[in-house]
Amino acid sequence: MGSSRRNFLSTALLGGMGTILPSSGRASAKKFQSINPNYAKLDKVMNDPVFKKELFNTPVIIDTLELLRYKDNFLCRVRSKDGAEGFSFGQNDQLRSLYPIFVNRMQQFFIGKDARDLESLLEEVYVYESNYKLQGIAIWVPMATIEFAILDMLGRMINKPMGALIGTVQRNKISVYQANSERYISPELTIEHLQKEVDKTKAKAIKFKLGGRMNHPETPEGRSEKLIPLVRKTFGDKMVISADANGSYDVKEAIRIGKIMEQYQYAFFEEPVPFDWYEETKQVADAIHIPVAGGEQEPSLHNFRWLLANDGLQIVQADMFYFGGMIRSMKVAHMAEAMGRLHIPHVSSIGYIYMMHFISAIPNAGPYHEYKSFNLDFPFECKTSSLIPEDGIVTVPTGAGLGIDIDPDFIKKHSSIKA
Ligand SMILES: [Mg+2]
Repeated sequence: MGSSRRNFLSTALLGGMGTILPSSGRASAKKFQSINPNYAKLDKVMNDPVFKKELFNTPVIIDTLELLRYKDNFLCRVRSKDGAEGFSFGQNDQLRSLYPIFVNRMQQFFIGKDARDLESLLEEVYVYESNYKLQGIAIWVPMATIEFAILDMLGRMINKPMGALIGTVQRNKISVYQANSERYISPELTIEHLQKEVDKTKAKAIKFKLGGRMNHPETPEGRSEKLIPLVRKTFGDKMVISADANGSYDVKEAIRIGKIMEQYQYAFFEEPVPFDWYEETKQVADAIHIPVAGGEQEPSLHNFRWLLANDGLQIVQADMFYFGGMIRSMKVAHMAEAMGRLHIPHVSSIGYIYMMHFISAIPNAGPYHEYKSFNLDFPFECKTSSLIPEDGIVTVPTGAGLGIDIDPDFIKKHSSIKA
């Protein structure tokens, strides 16, 4: 009796556990198997410090950090207790909406801190005031603005360009690709505009837009299919050509379009499917023989880790502003390098000048980097570069910090935004 009772209990227990144990066993086995062997090397480089703190022997205590505004123009100014000063340009399009995040949730955190701890300060301010809950452009643009100003100040203190604070400067000439941002116009008109732009910059590489953006239908219908061969025919075999779909397609259509691009020897296919369709991005990358590029919208280092470890992207494109600055972007570059991949950053407006410094110091720069129409309509002086491509090549400023001095009278027009 006792024995059969035990048997019953034991059978019941096993039966009960049976519904739990095997599935829990499966889950843990699955979890174990899902750990990609690439993660170990990616984690190592992701955790390596980027900022060269050792270049500074004594504390650089931040006395003030201000966001300045004049009409819709934003500048950031940082000053140390010892009188050092640095500036950055804001990403005006985004800061018009996001400036309260700078002044209410970040600014105060930096006051009294040692700027030499920049890398850890940026990690801490992500958690401060639960800022991580806003992860995305909302916090990364204000944070990049702060980082750029601090790097400018520190670079000026030791007379080194920004690139030397986050890496080893290995180039001061950058070949550009001319990017055309138009959609909704005919293939013929797109070609005409591209030609005009290329005539100005003499770029040896170009990029244009495909599809209707973020799963929207394209207008005029059939534009992309006509444009892909037409751009090759117009610009010839030597032109390096890429195209950007900004997430226009689903997997099936992206593969179909990608194969046309393959046929015409395109250099890369950017954002074939919406940027956060990670598995689908990989499916496209697996199915076509040209590199898939992406990452301009990516807010997360960990997501880049997945995309690189699983070969979802062959070219990463972290944006200096949208990804929170050069230090975070350098970690992406290092992860990409560990996987033998290139970093060709996306450029949002004035981020172009920060991208130049970043490119000067990364080991795995692509052969051509993004150049769009760039608004130089502000008073500045740059002694070492025109900032404009000449014969398709732009010179990275080699002066201290950003290497660009903003006209003091222009700065005076701005006023400090109060929290
Ligand atoms: Mg793009």
